[in-house]
Formats: sequence, C-alpha cells, structure tokens
Amino acid sequence: MRKDLFKKTPEVKARQSEYRRLAKEEARLRDIRAQVPDGLFRKCEACGEISDTEDIISGYHICPACGHYFRIPPHVRLSMILDRDSFTEWDTGLAQSDPLRFPGYPAKVAARRAATGLDEAVITGCGTIQDERTAVGVMASEFLMGSMGEIVGEKITRMVERATKERLPVILFCCSGGARMQEGMISLMQMAKTAQAIKRHSEAGLLYVSVLTDPTTGGVTASFAMLGDVILAESGALIGFAGPRVIEQTIGQKLPEGFQSAEFLEEHGFVDRIVKRSRLRQTLLFLLKSAKSGQDPDWAALDAELVRPIRADEAVPEITEERNANEPNGKIPASESGMELTRESGSNPPDSAAPASGIDSSAGTCAEDGTVSDNGKQDAPEAGQEEPAAWERVQIARSLDRPTSLHYIRSLFDRFLELHGDRAYADDGAIVGGIAELSGRYVTVIAQQKGRGIKENKKRNYGMPKPEGYRKALRLMKQADKFGRPVICFVDTPGAYCGIDAEERGQGEAIASCLYEMSGLRVPVLTVVIGEGGSGGALAMAVSNEVYLLENATYSILSPEGFASILWKDKKKAREAAGLMKITAKELLELGIIDGIIPESGEDSEGAGENVLRGVTTDTMEGTAMRIKERMLSFLARYGAMDGDTICELRYERFRKY
Ligand SMILES: [Zn+2]
Repeated sequence: MRKDLFKKTPEVKARQSEYRRLAKEEARLRDIRAQVPDGLFRKCEACGEISDTEDIISGYHICPACGHYFRIPPHVRLSMILDRDSFTEWDTGLAQSDPLRFPGYPAKVAARRAATGLDEAVITGCGTIQDERTAVGVMASEFLMGSMGEIVGEKITRMVERATKERLPVILFCCSGGARMQEGMISLMQMAKTAQAIKRHSEAGLLYVSVLTDPTTGGVTASFAMLGDVILAESGALIGFAGPRVIEQTIGQKLPEGFQSAEFLEEHGFVDRIVKRSRLRQTLLFLLKSAKSGQDPDWAALDAELVRPIRADEAVPEITEERNANEPNGKIPASESGMELTRESGSNPPDSAAPASGIDSSAGTCAEDGTVSDNGKQDAPEAGQEEPAAWERVQIARSLDRPTSLHYIRSLFDRFLELHGDRAYADDGAIVGGIAELSGRYVTVIAQQKGRGIKENKKRNYGMPKPEGYRKALRLMKQADKFGRPVICFVDTPGAYCGIDAEERGQGEAIASCLYEMSGLRVPVLTVVIGEGGSGGALAMAVSNEVYLLENATYSILSPEGFASILWKDKKKAREAAGLMKITAKELLELGIIDGIIPESGEDSEGAGENVLRGVTTDTMEGTAMRIKERMLSFLARYGAMDGDTICELRYERFRKY
C-alpha cells in the first residue's frame, strides 16, 4: 500500500498534466483577446498614457505604464477566471422592475440593455475553475454604475439559494455605485434579501468569496460585498459605504490620498488579501480546494507518508510558482526558508514515529516525545557540555538568529496563502494567519511573528499582538472550524501588547474570547511554542488538543523580569526567578502543561553538540523543522480520524485537569 503512495504522482504524469493545463490556459487567453473592444489604442484614465490595446489585453487589462486596473466587462472577467466554455448562465430575462413608476426609468434600462448586451447589472451562473465547480456572479459597472435594484438583488439571491441547494461555493465579483435610487425602498430591501440568503448558504457550511473591484460602494458594501468568508480585492479599487464626495461634503474636509482604497481597507482589517489580477484564478482555485478539506480529510494517508521509509536523496518539493506569488509580507530569503532540506536528517525511524492508536493518546505521546529522542542522542547534550539553565534558555528563546514563525511556515508547508485583518479595526502584523497546504491537505495556520530589524519590528510590534491580532486569529479559527480544517498555531511572543490603545480596544476581552471560542472548535488544534510563550498572550493561541515546545522554548506566567519585579520588587533577580518559575520545556512536561518536546540540537553532522548551547538558528533549522513536521503529521493522522465531539471533549478534559 505504501508503494502505491509513491507511484501516485510520477514526474512524467505531472509534466503531462502541466502541459495540458498550459494548453488550456493558452486557449483561455486567446478567448480573452478575441473579446477586445474596437480600437488599437487605449488611453489610461489614471496616468493619461496611451497604450497598445493588445498589450493591455494580454496584460490582464492593466495599464502597462502605471499599473492601473481598467474596469472589465463581465464576460471578460468570466473568461479570465473560469475554464473555457464552462460557464452556464442562470436566471436571464427576468421581467424588468419599476416599482416607483419612475419617469423615464424603463427607457433608461432598455437603452443600457441595448448598449451593453447585458440584461441587468449582474451576470450569474456556474462554471468551473480547473474542474472545481462554483456558482459565480459578476457585477457590471457599465450598467447604471452596477447599481442594485430588484433584478440585481433577485439574481444574486437566486444564485446563492441555488448554490445552497446544490452545495456549491459562491464567488461574487462586486462592483457597484450602491442602491438604485429609481427603485426606492424596494432597492433598499435587496440588501436584506441578499444578506439572509448568504447567511443560509454559510450555515450550510459553504464557501463564499467576494471579490471587491472598482468601485464597490453604498448598499452593496453594506450587504453581500462584506459578507465573504474570504474577501479579496483588486489593487486600487475604491471601496466604502459612503462615497468620497458625500464624506467630503459632510465633514467639510478633503480626504487623504488613498482613503477608501483596497489597500486602505486591508490595512484596516476589512480585506483578507489584495490579489493581482494575474493571480486571481489560482488564488480562487486554492480557496475552493481548501474549503473542501472537511469533506475529504484523508488524514490517514499522511500517517502512511510519515512512516514510509525515507530515502537519502529525497527532497522536499521545490518552491512552486504559486508559493512565490503568495508570499507573506515578511520577506525571507529563499536560502533561509529551509526548502532545500532533505528528509534524511532528523527523521524518525518508522517504528518510533508510529502514532499512538486510538483516542487516549496523550500519555503515549507524552512519553514518546518527552523522553525518547529522535535518534537516541539528540535530547541529551554531548558529553562534557552543561545543559543550559532556565535563564540561559530564556536568552536562547529570545535570540535574534532564532527562526521566526514565517521561517517555519516556509519550510513546513507546500503553499501558504496569508489572510489579513480582524474585520473590525486593523490587520495586526504581530500575528500572521492563513491557509496552508500540507501534502495536498489544507490547514489553517496562525502564528505569532517577531520581526528582525527595526523596520520589520515596527510592523510586527516585536511579536506582541494587539486585540486586533487576537481577533484576526479568532476569525481564522472560526473559518477553519466551518470548513473542517485543522488549526496549527505557532507561539512566539514576549506577551500580549501592553499599551493604551490595546486597552481601549479590549485586550483582555480579545484574549478571553480566544480561550472561550477555542474550547468549542470541532477541528483539531495543535500549538507549537517555537520561542517565547509569554503569558495570556501565548495561551490565547494554545487552548489546543496538544501543545509542544521546542527544546529551548519557554512558556511562562510572565517574563522572569516581570515575575522578579512583582514578587521581589527587583528586576535584576530575573535569573533567580527563571530558575524557580518552571518555564523550561522539561519542567513543563513534568508539570503536564505540554505534551512533548521537540529537540533543537543535532541539525547537521558537524554542529551537533554546538547547538545545545546556542539553540536552533535560521542556518541550522532544517532538522528542527523536519521534526516539527513529523509531529504535525502524526498529530493530524491521529486527530483526523476523530469526530468533532471527541476532539472537543479531549480538549476540554486536557484543560479541565489543571
Ligand atoms: Zn496608466
């Protein structure tokens, strides 16, 4: 059976399918070109530059001079996103609505119909993206500014209802000036009508992705546009409830540059991600696949992968194109990402890696992880070397050349799509979250991220999350729960941020909500403390089924400095405090706070002993990363087979015992 697993994806087969994909892609692009409007040249409304239409089209309708995104008609959008000839339109030819009998309105609609060839300001239907079927809607700005009247609301509602019935995801490209004034209150009611249909779709566990394009304003923003499980946006798109002119008139001030842009919204936590037009199809495909993981977990196969014999020449797959494009913001040189690591170092022999069978596994893994090292000698320092004392471990855990969460994310997962924002206030750089692919299965990853250097630390706030960070974490956990994706958390924080703004926005409430909601997650949650596990700020991401510590990581009620100053009014006694607090991996394992220790030493043949005193660094992280991966796979294989009730109950019992 294990042999089959190897043969499943031979190189040739993969290459052939890649050729087929490219051929299809080529045909699709030809279709897009065939839909060129008349005229050889086009003037950019942003920079005034005149460009060759052909260049614009082949460049995804983006100005070659300044990068401005041109608005594109719905059928062009569909051909950019969907497989060729896969689109079937739904609900065409609905009778025109004119509830106010507004003078001249029917004639105006008729004129737009004739001019655009569209029957209303939205096209709906279904199609496929690389054979993944989805309902899809595209709004049209050229039809009365994409305003939402009864027919627009009706078409979107019918699409969502049908998708619910047929268990399809929904992708909706939003673009609208707002409600259609000529239809009065009937237009306003479309906001409620569409929102309630989306609620039922969501309650059925289905994915809804809204893509905000230029412009998305008014009633559409206050209804379906902002209700996506994932909200993507196009760069530079105007997005807002009130239009900029209305705001300026109301407050009597000029608005700052970039106000209400997609970038502004991402910074303020309302957009998951700004996606390049050229990457949109692949991003949507990734999201469609990741939302299906609950339906087809197949975690047991990971188990087989874990225990299969490891060949020396076998390398972790190369970085894919998608992976580069979906780079998280923290730039890490490829050489540091550990992608070239082989599996030979630090890999378990098949027997010791076999996961404990059955549900009651905690005792087994404790013993296994805590006391049995990977190759028998990695747990113990080399002869003649002192094991670091607690205070030394604190220093190692804080060390600046220690790998950060993003280093591990890069090295552990095949792909990672970062999602931003708490949908309320901001996107906190101290917490990185998103969806990752691990050998074809999807997990949600949430990680505390420290910076390297002043500029990055400003962005990451030295790894100290604010309330918006915890609210982002919570949002992503709930998203994972909805789609049956396991959650992997990396903890590395001195503690939650202490500051005026953090208190104003409810730091305590934000952490409390994490503890509260995590206890009810029906998907397995694994936490790995990779550096500092500082207090409640760490616990907010560690109400997990299992918690592991790297060998030199610490997990504590607060910093030794803080402990000393509270109990002895003397910060300088931090070393003494560290010795008493029981914050090292070994002590925590004895206390039953954690489920296992992941060794850091023995990364390479030469520096095996050296690392004991220095801890893992970005240069020597390969073996450590491999061991984390093994823990992850083993965890997922064990918990993947359990139902939600059991997973929840085990977590409850885990914390009930303290
Ligand atoms: Zn331009």
